[in-house]
Amino acid sequence: MAAGARPFLRFDGVIRTFGETTAVGGISLEIEAHSFVALVGASGSGKSTLLKMVNRLTEPSSGSVLLEGEEVTSISAPALRRKIGYVFQGIGLFPHMTVAENIGIGPRLTGERASLARICELLELVELDPGMASRMPDELSGGQRQRVGVARALAGKPHLLLMDEPFGALDPITRDSLGQRVHDLHREFALTTVMVTHDMAEALLLADRVLVMDSGAIVADATPAQLLNGQGGDIAQALVAVPRDQARALADLAS
Ligand code: ADP
Ligand code: MG
Repeated sequence: MAAGARPFLRFDGVIRTFGETTAVGGISLEIEAHSFVALVGASGSGKSTLLKMVNRLTEPSSGSVLLEGEEVTSISAPALRRKIGYVFQGIGLFPHMTVAENIGIGPRLTGERASLARICELLELVELDPGMASRMPDELSGGQRQRVGVARALAGKPHLLLMDEPFGALDPITRDSLGQRVHDLHREFALTTVMVTHDMAEALLLADRVLVMDSGAIVADATPAQLLNGQGGDIAQALVAVPRDQARALADLAS
Protein backbone atom coordinates (compact mmCIF):
# COMPACT_ATOMS: atom_id res chain seq x y z
CA MET A 1 0.00 0.00 0.00
CA ALA A 2 1.24 3.51 -0.80
CA ALA A 3 2.69 5.42 2.12
CA GLY A 4 0.01 7.46 3.85
CA ALA A 5 -2.85 5.66 2.08
CA ARG A 6 -5.64 4.81 4.46
CA PRO A 7 -6.40 1.09 4.60
CA PHE A 8 -10.00 0.23 3.83
CA LEU A 9 -10.25 -2.07 6.84
CA ARG A 10 -7.88 -2.17 9.75
CA PHE A 11 -7.63 -4.33 12.86
CA ASP A 12 -5.55 -2.71 15.54
CA GLY A 13 -4.45 -4.99 18.38
CA VAL A 14 -7.81 -6.74 18.43
CA ILE A 15 -8.43 -9.22 21.25
CA ARG A 16 -11.65 -11.04 21.98
CA THR A 17 -11.98 -13.39 24.92
CA PHE A 18 -14.95 -15.44 26.08
CA GLY A 19 -14.32 -16.27 29.73
CA GLU A 20 -11.14 -18.36 29.77
CA THR A 21 -11.12 -18.75 25.98
CA THR A 22 -9.14 -16.38 23.80
CA ALA A 23 -10.96 -16.49 20.47
CA VAL A 24 -8.85 -13.72 18.89
CA GLY A 25 -5.50 -13.09 20.51
CA GLY A 26 -4.27 -9.68 19.42
CA ILE A 27 -4.57 -9.24 15.67
CA SER A 28 -3.28 -6.23 13.77
CA LEU A 29 -4.02 -6.33 10.08
CA GLU A 30 -4.77 -4.06 7.15
CA ILE A 31 -7.00 -4.93 4.24
CA GLU A 32 -6.81 -2.89 1.06
CA ALA A 33 -9.88 -1.68 -0.78
CA HIS A 34 -11.06 -4.04 -3.54
CA SER A 35 -9.10 -7.01 -2.31
CA PHE A 36 -10.68 -10.46 -2.02
CA VAL A 37 -9.34 -11.96 1.18
CA ALA A 38 -9.92 -15.53 2.29
CA LEU A 39 -9.66 -16.32 5.97
CA VAL A 40 -8.83 -20.00 6.37
CA GLY A 41 -8.24 -22.13 9.43
CA ALA A 42 -9.42 -25.04 11.53
CA SER A 43 -12.73 -24.97 13.35
CA GLY A 44 -12.44 -22.91 16.53
CA SER A 45 -9.44 -20.89 15.31
CA GLY A 46 -11.35 -17.59 15.68
CA LYS A 47 -12.38 -16.84 12.08
CA SER A 48 -16.04 -16.08 12.74
CA THR A 49 -15.23 -14.02 15.81
CA LEU A 50 -12.78 -11.89 13.82
CA LEU A 51 -15.37 -11.31 11.10
CA LYS A 52 -18.18 -10.48 13.53
CA MET A 53 -16.12 -7.72 15.10
CA VAL A 54 -16.29 -5.88 11.77
CA ASN A 55 -20.08 -5.65 11.67
CA ARG A 56 -20.42 -5.51 15.45
CA LEU A 57 -22.15 -8.79 16.00
CA THR A 58 -19.35 -9.12 18.58
CA GLU A 59 -17.33 -6.37 20.22
CA PRO A 60 -13.56 -6.62 20.84
CA SER A 61 -12.42 -7.09 24.46
CA SER A 62 -9.66 -4.65 23.52
CA GLY A 63 -8.24 -3.04 20.41
CA SER A 64 -10.23 -1.53 17.58
CA VAL A 65 -11.56 -2.18 14.10
CA LEU A 66 -11.55 0.71 11.63
CA LEU A 67 -13.63 0.77 8.45
CA GLU A 68 -12.59 3.48 5.98
CA GLY A 69 -10.73 5.12 8.84
CA GLU A 70 -13.66 5.15 11.26
CA GLU A 71 -13.92 3.00 14.37
CA VAL A 72 -16.84 0.66 13.75
CA THR A 73 -18.07 1.17 17.32
CA SER A 74 -18.63 4.85 16.47
CA ILE A 75 -20.75 4.07 13.37
CA SER A 76 -24.50 3.66 13.93
CA ALA A 77 -25.85 0.16 13.42
CA PRO A 78 -28.03 1.13 10.39
CA ALA A 79 -25.14 2.95 8.71
CA LEU A 80 -22.87 -0.02 9.34
CA ARG A 81 -25.44 -2.48 7.95
CA ARG A 82 -25.64 -0.36 4.80
CA LYS A 83 -21.87 -0.36 4.32
CA ILE A 84 -21.50 -4.08 4.96
CA GLY A 85 -23.17 -7.04 3.29
CA TYR A 86 -23.08 -10.22 5.35
CA VAL A 87 -23.61 -13.76 4.10
CA PHE A 88 -23.37 -16.72 6.42
CA GLN A 89 -23.83 -20.44 6.27
CA GLY A 90 -27.17 -22.03 6.96
CA ILE A 91 -30.61 -20.67 6.36
CA GLY A 92 -30.48 -17.04 7.40
CA LEU A 93 -33.71 -16.31 5.52
CA PHE A 94 -36.94 -15.53 7.38
CA PRO A 95 -39.18 -18.53 6.64
CA HIS A 96 -42.46 -16.58 6.85
CA MET A 97 -41.33 -13.95 4.32
CA THR A 98 -41.18 -14.20 0.54
CA VAL A 99 -37.90 -14.07 -1.33
CA ALA A 100 -38.60 -10.42 -2.22
CA GLU A 101 -39.30 -9.51 1.41
CA ASN A 102 -36.17 -11.30 2.55
CA ILE A 103 -34.04 -9.44 0.00
CA GLY A 104 -35.67 -6.13 0.92
CA ILE A 105 -35.25 -6.52 4.68
CA GLY A 106 -32.00 -4.56 4.88
CA PRO A 107 -33.24 -1.41 3.12
CA ARG A 108 -36.51 -1.66 5.08
CA LEU A 109 -34.65 -1.64 8.40
CA THR A 110 -33.05 1.65 7.40
CA GLY A 111 -36.43 3.14 6.44
CA GLU A 112 -36.07 2.66 2.68
CA ARG A 113 -38.02 0.43 0.36
CA ALA A 114 -36.57 -1.81 -2.31
CA SER A 115 -38.72 -1.61 -5.46
CA LEU A 116 -39.80 -4.76 -7.26
CA ALA A 117 -37.57 -3.70 -10.15
CA ARG A 118 -34.62 -3.55 -7.76
CA ILE A 119 -35.48 -6.97 -6.29
CA CYS A 120 -35.64 -8.45 -9.80
CA GLU A 121 -32.31 -6.83 -10.67
CA LEU A 122 -30.75 -8.37 -7.54
CA LEU A 123 -32.20 -11.80 -8.38
CA GLU A 124 -30.72 -11.58 -11.86
CA LEU A 125 -27.33 -10.67 -10.40
CA VAL A 126 -27.27 -13.99 -8.55
CA GLU A 127 -28.64 -15.81 -11.62
CA LEU A 128 -32.09 -16.53 -10.25
CA ASP A 129 -35.33 -16.15 -12.20
CA PRO A 130 -37.05 -12.90 -11.12
CA GLY A 131 -40.25 -15.00 -10.99
CA MET A 132 -38.89 -16.43 -7.75
CA ALA A 133 -39.53 -13.12 -5.96
CA SER A 134 -42.90 -14.30 -4.66
CA ARG A 135 -41.74 -17.74 -3.51
CA MET A 136 -41.24 -18.73 0.10
CA PRO A 137 -37.76 -19.89 1.23
CA ASP A 138 -38.93 -23.50 1.73
CA GLU A 139 -39.83 -23.62 -1.97
CA LEU A 140 -36.17 -23.15 -2.92
CA SER A 141 -33.19 -25.51 -3.07
CA GLY A 142 -30.27 -24.93 -0.71
CA GLY A 143 -28.24 -23.35 -3.52
CA GLN A 144 -31.10 -21.03 -4.49
CA ARG A 145 -31.55 -19.99 -0.87
CA GLN A 146 -27.89 -19.16 -0.61
CA ARG A 147 -28.14 -17.12 -3.83
CA VAL A 148 -31.00 -15.19 -2.20
CA GLY A 149 -28.69 -14.66 0.79
CA VAL A 150 -26.08 -13.12 -1.53
CA ALA A 151 -28.75 -10.93 -3.21
CA ARG A 152 -29.87 -9.73 0.22
CA ALA A 153 -26.29 -8.90 1.18
CA LEU A 154 -25.93 -6.79 -1.98
CA ALA A 155 -29.30 -5.02 -1.62
CA GLY A 156 -27.88 -2.09 0.35
CA LYS A 157 -25.05 -1.51 -2.20
CA PRO A 158 -22.36 -2.29 0.37
CA HIS A 159 -18.68 -1.51 -0.03
CA LEU A 160 -17.66 -4.48 2.06
CA LEU A 161 -18.88 -8.05 1.69
CA LEU A 162 -18.32 -10.39 4.64
CA MET A 163 -19.00 -14.06 4.06
CA ASP A 164 -18.77 -16.74 6.73
CA GLU A 165 -18.50 -20.20 5.16
CA PRO A 166 -21.15 -19.13 2.65
CA PHE A 167 -20.98 -22.23 0.48
CA GLY A 168 -20.19 -24.84 3.12
CA ALA A 169 -23.52 -26.63 2.97
CA LEU A 170 -23.82 -26.73 -0.83
CA ASP A 171 -23.11 -29.52 -3.28
CA PRO A 172 -19.76 -29.10 -5.09
CA ILE A 173 -21.18 -27.98 -8.43
CA THR A 174 -23.49 -25.36 -6.95
CA ARG A 175 -20.69 -24.30 -4.67
CA ASP A 176 -18.31 -23.79 -7.54
CA SER A 177 -20.74 -21.82 -9.69
CA LEU A 178 -21.89 -19.58 -6.83
CA GLY A 179 -18.27 -19.00 -5.80
CA GLN A 180 -17.42 -17.88 -9.34
CA ARG A 181 -20.50 -15.67 -9.46
CA VAL A 182 -19.55 -13.98 -6.18
CA HIS A 183 -16.05 -13.48 -7.54
CA ASP A 184 -17.49 -11.74 -10.63
CA LEU A 185 -19.81 -9.57 -8.51
CA HIS A 186 -16.87 -8.63 -6.31
CA ARG A 187 -15.14 -7.24 -9.42
CA GLU A 188 -18.22 -5.72 -11.02
CA PHE A 189 -19.15 -3.72 -7.91
CA ALA A 190 -15.56 -3.00 -6.82
CA LEU A 191 -16.28 -4.63 -3.48
CA THR A 192 -13.84 -5.48 -0.76
CA THR A 193 -14.57 -9.06 0.22
CA VAL A 194 -13.54 -11.12 3.23
CA MET A 195 -14.60 -14.75 3.00
CA VAL A 196 -14.19 -17.26 5.81
CA THR A 197 -13.76 -20.81 4.59
CA HIS A 198 -12.20 -23.98 5.91
CA ASP A 199 -11.56 -25.07 2.33
CA MET A 200 -8.10 -24.08 1.13
CA ALA A 201 -8.92 -25.01 -2.47
CA GLU A 202 -11.78 -22.51 -2.48
CA ALA A 203 -9.52 -19.86 -0.92
CA LEU A 204 -6.77 -20.42 -3.51
CA LEU A 205 -9.22 -20.29 -6.43
CA LEU A 206 -11.20 -17.22 -5.38
CA ALA A 207 -9.04 -14.95 -3.25
CA ASP A 208 -6.10 -12.72 -4.06
CA ARG A 209 -4.86 -12.85 -0.47
CA VAL A 210 -5.10 -15.76 1.95
CA LEU A 211 -4.89 -15.35 5.72
CA VAL A 212 -4.48 -18.48 7.79
CA MET A 213 -5.74 -18.40 11.36
CA ASP A 214 -4.69 -20.74 14.14
CA SER A 215 -5.63 -20.44 17.81
CA GLY A 216 -6.68 -16.79 17.51
CA ALA A 217 -3.62 -15.64 15.55
CA ILE A 218 -2.87 -15.00 11.88
CA VAL A 219 -0.10 -17.47 11.11
CA ALA A 220 0.15 -16.88 7.36
CA ASP A 221 -0.58 -13.96 5.06
CA ALA A 222 0.22 -14.78 1.47
CA THR A 223 -1.04 -14.78 -2.09
CA PRO A 224 -2.33 -18.02 -3.63
CA ALA A 225 0.77 -18.10 -5.84
CA GLN A 226 3.07 -17.82 -2.81
CA LEU A 227 1.20 -20.59 -1.01
CA LEU A 228 1.35 -22.82 -4.07
CA ASN A 229 5.09 -22.14 -4.22
CA GLY A 230 5.56 -23.53 -0.73
CA GLN A 231 5.58 -20.28 1.27
CA GLY A 232 3.49 -19.31 4.30
CA GLY A 233 4.81 -21.75 6.90
CA ASP A 234 3.88 -25.21 8.13
CA ILE A 235 0.25 -24.66 9.10
CA ALA A 236 -0.57 -23.04 5.76
CA GLN A 237 1.34 -25.70 3.85
CA ALA A 238 -0.52 -28.50 5.65
CA LEU A 239 -3.77 -26.92 4.40
CA VAL A 240 -2.42 -26.47 0.86
CA ALA A 241 -1.31 -30.11 0.81
CA VAL A 242 -4.93 -31.34 0.92
CA PRO A 243 -6.13 -30.07 -2.49
CA ARG A 244 -2.68 -30.56 -4.00
CA ASP A 245 -2.59 -34.24 -3.00
CA GLN A 246 -6.14 -34.69 -4.27
CA ALA A 247 -5.24 -33.11 -7.61
CA ARG A 248 -2.20 -35.40 -7.90
CA ALA A 249 -4.21 -38.48 -7.03
CA LEU A 250 -6.81 -37.58 -9.66
CA ALA A 251 -4.13 -36.90 -12.27
CA ASP A 252 -2.59 -40.32 -11.51
CA LEU A 253 -5.95 -42.00 -11.94
CA ALA A 254 -6.47 -40.34 -15.29
CA SER A 255 -3.05 -41.24 -16.70
P1 ADP B 1 -14.15 -20.48 13.90
O1 ADP B 1 -15.11 -19.59 13.20
O2 ADP B 1 -12.75 -20.39 13.37
O3 ADP B 1 -14.61 -21.91 13.93
P2 ADP B 1 -14.96 -19.07 16.30
O4 ADP B 1 -14.56 -17.66 16.09
O5 ADP B 1 -16.38 -19.41 16.11
O6 ADP B 1 -14.01 -20.02 15.43
O7 ADP B 1 -14.56 -19.50 17.78
C1 ADP B 1 -13.27 -19.27 18.33
C2 ADP B 1 -13.28 -19.72 19.78
O8 ADP B 1 -14.13 -18.86 20.54
C3 ADP B 1 -13.81 -21.14 19.99
O9 ADP B 1 -13.09 -21.72 21.04
C4 ADP B 1 -15.25 -20.91 20.38
O10 ADP B 1 -15.73 -21.95 21.18
C5 ADP B 1 -15.17 -19.59 21.15
N1 ADP B 1 -16.42 -18.81 21.04
C6 ADP B 1 -16.89 -18.21 19.94
N2 ADP B 1 -18.03 -17.56 20.18
C7 ADP B 1 -18.31 -17.75 21.50
C8 ADP B 1 -19.36 -17.34 22.37
N3 ADP B 1 -20.36 -16.58 21.94
N4 ADP B 1 -19.30 -17.73 23.65
C9 ADP B 1 -18.27 -18.49 24.11
N5 ADP B 1 -17.26 -18.91 23.35
C10 ADP B 1 -17.26 -18.57 22.06
MG1 MG C 1 -16.90 -20.06 12.24
